[in-house]
Amino acid sequence: MPENKYISSLKKLKRKVYIRGTPVDAPQEHPLVQLSTAAVARSYALQGQPEHEQLIYANSHLDGRRINRFTHIHRSAEDLINKVKLQRLLGQQTGTCFQRCVGMDALNALEITTFELERDLGTPYHRNFNHFLQQVQEENAVCDGAMTDPKGDRSKRPHEQADPDLYLRVVSRNREGIVVNGAKCHQTGALNSHYIIAMPTTAMREEDRDYAVAFAVEADNPQLIYILGRQPSDLRKMEPDRADTGNMYFGGQECLIIFDHVFIPWERVFLCGEYDYSGRLVERFAGYHRQSYGGCKTGVGDLLIGAAASLAEYHGLDRASHIKDKLVEMIHLNETIFCCGIACSSRGNPTASGTYLVDLLLANVCKLNVTRFPYEIARLAEDIAGGLVATLPSLKDLEHPEIGPLLKKYFQGVAGMETTCRLRMLRFVENLTLGAAAAAYLTESLHGAGSPQAQRVVIARQADLEGKKRMARKLAGIKDD
Ligand code: SF4
Ligand code: FE
Repeated sequence: MPENKYISSLKKLKRKVYIRGTPVDAPQEHPLVQLSTAAVARSYALQGQPEHEQLIYANSHLDGRRINRFTHIHRSAEDLINKVKLQRLLGQQTGTCFQRCVGMDALNALEITTFELERDLGTPYHRNFNHFLQQVQEENAVCDGAMTDPKGDRSKRPHEQADPDLYLRVVSRNREGIVVNGAKCHQTGALNSHYIIAMPTTAMREEDRDYAVAFAVEADNPQLIYILGRQPSDLRKMEPDRADTGNMYFGGQECLIIFDHVFIPWERVFLCGEYDYSGRLVERFAGYHRQSYGGCKTGVGDLLIGAAASLAEYHGLDRASHIKDKLVEMIHLNETIFCCGIACSSRGNPTASGTYLVDLLLANVCKLNVTRFPYEIARLAEDIAGGLVATLPSLKDLEHPEIGPLLKKYFQGVAGMETTCRLRMLRFVENLTLGAAAAAYLTESLHGAGSPQAQRVVIARQADLEGKKRMARKLAGIKDD
């Protein structure tokens, strides 16, 4: 089974990991990590499912071999569309962030940008990158795309910070390579990755040239420190039967990664000091990841809609017109996100390297919708579910000889429907709207791939407002000078 091989490959990595103040030698055995590893493992499990072959496999543009799409470089608009469809499928299968897209998006953004760097400046970055990519494809490896720096005082540029390490930077270089120091925040799937790919978090100017750095490093480099992020209600995952987690099988994961004077050999460096290229690398990565949300968040949205519709049945309200209206509203919002994901993919264009980039305007519109619509879908799901979503006793109480029968009596919905199923579904909604998975479905929808203001900036830049003004002037009979 490819997913078993994946999990055992992670177990071989010796990393410095902290969880709740304690060093952890075997994170894949830790209950706060296990469900997140299981979510990434679905991207391997799909390889054994013939009905999903077209989505999970692609042919490498390097050597034509059949590879997992998460390691693929998109060479057509159809590739971009298949990526979004795959993400929706995995969102539906896991009900959380399955974490593998950031690495795929980093690979694609780097492929385009290193090509330009080598073409324009003669640096060997594209050769370095392709060599690394080949290895990732051969190993079917998981890459973590690490972009977000801690950023300290947001009004200051990287080189102006009181502490120069608040943006990841090059501290020294020699003939063999570079040494980097700093940190990356919110690293999705960090402990489920084989490689960490670091990129700058913003456009850089000349004074910030030491911060214009991109590279790949093995996840078990001894100078990396991983600190696992908390999620709401995460301790429920540590309870033996996990009955109160809501999603019994899958979860997401974010870490703070500290790069403590990490040595990177030149062959793994993809950008080092060429500050002019930093902004376009960031914009491309963000564009791809904003497209990604058009897939994954709609898959999770499908589950929340399904859960709300099921609860309406348990409550005997499935024929009520206001409930039907709310469900239609949820579907409308969810499919609007998907439309944006498909639209920015189908309007993708080839770049100089031949790799297809999404339509950046539409990808940013996609993500700006994602900063709002999942919150409204969650609100409507809670509306349909009722207040019990936040006051439900433990499902373990159902097993108690005295109170179990009382709970089943008083939480019965429509006669004949199983009370336990109703309560499990309520837990599922709680997990997605208030619990551990809300980190992936809500907060990540707001801030992941850049906070809303970042999308507004790109939309303003890409929207050709002058062109719109000219069109309006023409029809209004106003002559341009
Ligand atoms: Fe993939 Fe979505 Fe998670 Fe990003 S948030 S890694 S796109 S599942
Ligand atoms: Fe994300």
